[in-house]
Amino acid sequence: MMKSKELFAKAKRLLPGGVNSPVRAFGSVGGEPFFVREGRGSKIYDVDGNEYIDYVCSWGPLILGHAHPEVVDFVRDVVAKGTSFGIPIELEVSMAEAVVEAVPSIEKVRFVNSGTEATMSAIRLARGYTKRNKVVKFEGCYHGHVDYLLVKAGSGVLTFGIPGTPGVPEDFAKHTLIARFNDLESVESLFEKYGEDIACVIVEPVMGNAGVILPEKGFLEGLRRITEKYGALLIFDEVITGFRVSLGGAQERFGIKPDLTCLGKIIGGGFPVGAYGGRTDIMAHVAPEGPVYQAGTLSGNPVAMAAGLKTLEILKRENVYPVLEKRMERFGREAKAIFDEAGIPVTVNSIASMGCIFFTEGPVKSFDDAAKSDTKMYARFFWAMLKRGIYFAPSQFEAAFISWAHTDDDIDRTLEAMREAVKEI
Ligand SMILES: *Cc1c(COP(=O)(O)O)cnc(C)c1O
Repeated sequence: MMKSKELFAKAKRLLPGGVNSPVRAFGSVGGEPFFVREGRGSKIYDVDGNEYIDYVCSWGPLILGHAHPEVVDFVRDVVAKGTSFGIPIELEVSMAEAVVEAVPSIEKVRFVNSGTEATMSAIRLARGYTKRNKVVKFEGCYHGHVDYLLVKAGSGVLTFGIPGTPGVPEDFAKHTLIARFNDLESVESLFEKYGEDIACVIVEPVMGNAGVILPEKGFLEGLRRITEKYGALLIFDEVITGFRVSLGGAQERFGIKPDLTCLGKIIGGGFPVGAYGGRTDIMAHVAPEGPVYQAGTLSGNPVAMAAGLKTLEILKRENVYPVLEKRMERFGREAKAIFDEAGIPVTVNSIASMGCIFFTEGPVKSFDDAAKSDTKMYARFFWAMLKRGIYFAPSQFEAAFISWAHTDDDIDRTLEAMREAVKEI
């Protein structure tokens, strides 16, 4: 790990914590990150020549694996003809068509450059449309680093135990109301108190930033019912679940139509893209059609649109979802058996190709349940696996992703490594 070590020492002098996004710094598992040189399919290779099977997949976007040849070829063709124009291009329209076709509740869509931009803009739109101020979010859900959404958030905010964050004036967060996932009463009581001024409820329909937590039967239906009753909008943040839990996302899988949907990660095929969309009458409030301002210099650029479009095309053509789901199910089942045999209490939650091994007895149905996990043991597990060429997320509170490039052989090798790893954690 000599080269990685040298690079990280230099990086720490030049970048805060040596990284451009907090969880990458390995803070919660201790030690230092490796530097990656390249990726192919399910594998990544570090600058010191080590190979790893990658279950992070750039934190979700790479559902086709690294450097999928068809995506790379298409992007190469497009990039050679110019990377950005700030003038309408045909690829934006094709991409919009693909998104509208895939995601049940989206009739019209606006492309942005990240998931953060998508959630921030969708909430601005919800507030503009309803002429109300308040936003209900759930404990442990992460919606990007939007000021007023960093309250009780998941992902790095959770990993590092930061309660909110300095730099966000209390005034900015005073319209953010916190409810508990899988607890409709906590939502009802907020609406009883503030219903007239609640613009929207934003939720990850499957929580993916506090490990993986599934919605219990009736929970999403309940959110739909309550928001409708009070005239608030329901926003699904499908930045992780979109094109992941099915082609049409969680809303297709669970049969619930939100008013607005936020997309990111997979939609960019590995490039920076986000999107928000929904009913035509709501989207009509977005500038220039309506008064809610939102813009982006590089939004809808040809390179990102090409990568996303090709990715969606392949996902649809190959019908990847049933295969990925079976693979994750087997992985989860056999992993659980290995821990059971070793007498280590874990809970495995998974849906489609996303999953999480919580180091706690379980069940894990809420943020509080997830927080009971033995993060120190997770850290030991992480290093024991990494040593054996398997890369899981450097935090207990993140999902593991299986891509279309992960083979049964990859899974077998991972389980074999796990059998060895449990002996030393
Ligand atoms: C990753 C994520 C975001 C933020 O997306 P960025 O592209 O990192 O800004 C928002 N919501 C959810 C559910 C996410 O997982």
